[in-house]
Amino acid sequence: CGIVGVLGTHEAAPILVEALKRLEYRGYDSAGIATVNGAGKLDRRRAVGKLVNLSDRLVHDPLAGKAGIGHTRWATHGAPNEKNAHPHRSGPVAVVHNGIIENFRELRNELAAEGHAPETDTDTETVAMLARHHLDSGMTPVQAARATLARLEGAFALAFLFEGEEDLMIVARKGSPLAIGHGDAEMYVGSDAIALAPFTDRITYLEEGDWAVITRAGAEIFDEADAPVSREMRRIRMDA
Ligand code: GLU
Repeated sequence: CGIVGVLGTHEAAPILVEALKRLEYRGYDSAGIATVNGAGKLDRRRAVGKLVNLSDRLVHDPLAGKAGIGHTRWATHGAPNEKNAHPHRSGPVAVVHNGIIENFRELRNELAAEGHAPETDTDTETVAMLARHHLDSGMTPVQAARATLARLEGAFALAFLFEGEEDLMIVARKGSPLAIGHGDAEMYVGSDAIALAPFTDRITYLEEGDWAVITRAGAEIFDEADAPVSREMRRIRMDA
């Protein structure tokens, strides 16, 4: 339902929770965040119910790292429980997703034939599994994300994070909005620019079919045919 992300210079967890709070109005049944820490380790925390349940968990079981993604879920596939909460993870890949992957059963069957079994009831996990499969076959994270996106049908906004990649976030937009926020040596993403209001007012909206490779140095944006494109950066006035 709501997506946020940051490649920052401060701890990501409080930033992600703060950004997710601004998306609470959209409604949700569970929430979660994943980070990559300075040693490259990918980890996540999730909780059913209100964001306060997630922040309580983070008090007892903190999540370090300055790169992270976060999600508030409105379940479409799979019950609203912790197992099905985002971020979804398959090996070195973590994914948050708004929307529906229409062909996830077909993809899941293909992955099953390769010996990959899902651990959740969601359409989203299939995206992480497919990206992991591509990484296993020798692709780089960017190649793996691109090959994964090429197979997805439906309406979605997605953000990927990879173990060992502390300065990389890959995002995509098809049928579900996604905004990139430009900070000072920091980059943000949000399914709604309002989520980013406390952090930056410099926003680039992805257009339909766009995907982007984001590092702290900036965002490289590509269209659906994988051609590099430039999208306008605007200053958005938000009443934060
Ligand atoms: N289809 C996904 C799920 O059920 C994402 C739902 C959402 O947009 O929150 O987990």
